[in-house]
Amino acid sequence: MAAVEQFALKIPAEFASRINWAAATDPLLRQVLPDARESASAGATDPVGELSARVAGGLVHKYGHRALLITSSACDIHCRYCFRRHFPYEQTPPNADRWAEVASYLTEHPEVSELILSGGDPLTLSTRRLASLTGALTAVPQLRRLRIHSRTPLVRPQRIDAPLLRWLESLPWRTVLVLHCNHARELGQAGKEAITQLREAGLTLLNQSVLLAGVNDCDETLAELSETLFDHGVLPYYLHQMDPVQGADHFVVEDERAKALVSALRKRLPGYLVPRLVSDPPASDAKKILA
Ligand SMILES: *Cc1c(COP(=O)(O)O)cnc(C)c1O
Ligand code: SF4
Repeated sequence: MAAVEQFALKIPAEFASRINWAAATDPLLRQVLPDARESASAGATDPVGELSARVAGGLVHKYGHRALLITSSACDIHCRYCFRRHFPYEQTPPNADRWAEVASYLTEHPEVSELILSGGDPLTLSTRRLASLTGALTAVPQLRRLRIHSRTPLVRPQRIDAPLLRWLESLPWRTVLVLHCNHARELGQAGKEAITQLREAGLTLLNQSVLLAGVNDCDETLAELSETLFDHGVLPYYLHQMDPVQGADHFVVEDERAKALVSALRKRLPGYLVPRLVSDPPASDAKKILA
């Protein structure tokens, strides 16, 4: 299938074990199953305008006070709606030369107080490589926070092992982990244990979801997601309107419906469990809050 040639199928065992394989409409299966409609889809290959915001060593500096690092080219799971499914990752190898370039760019930009490790998924790198990155970053005097964007703790919980936890505990910055979970059923026993360990290692845990037709575009589903996450110490952060990436038209939820879903959530949940509905327009210097 052309869709698989463009973006390979990848489903880790833990996520696969949570899919109801008997239902073609299963919300977990839908996130990972290639669809013939992908090839006919409109949309952009760089929907959030990242390529023009690349500065040095795989850094994307689109928002003044925080910079984002394309840390790794790999993910443990391939989400069909991924906005980076066309990203030219081969230009950003995870090696010490690149970390040195990143550290010197940040040192020359004292306004950057937070670095976001993104990817790909940063936790696909070995702990040794991650430690070599953070070792280089200790030379950046103004850095106050490190943020890690990862789907790994829930989709490959065995990655959260003792050496990784020791590395996280050793970091000199306040560290935030932003998970990516779209449906309460993605949280299995092993994933819950992994996030408990991450919380015990001192991380602040947040979650971002993508609003996806046929996956979580229902107020009851979104409420259950927020409540299940919070049961395990994770606060909902963003609910993203999907970036208009080529290949993912069939997941689109119109803005008006998206806003109505968030209003319905406000009636069901305390304010702190309602994520902010956001979009990421290419030419903007901050996320746009829709609701
Ligand atoms: C979303 C995003 C950020 C971080 O924005 P926050 O609103 O602080 O979460 C930074 N850089 C890029 C490229 C982003 O897409
Ligand atoms: S984990 Fe994130 S970066 Fe990786 S394929 Fe899924 S959405 Fe894209």
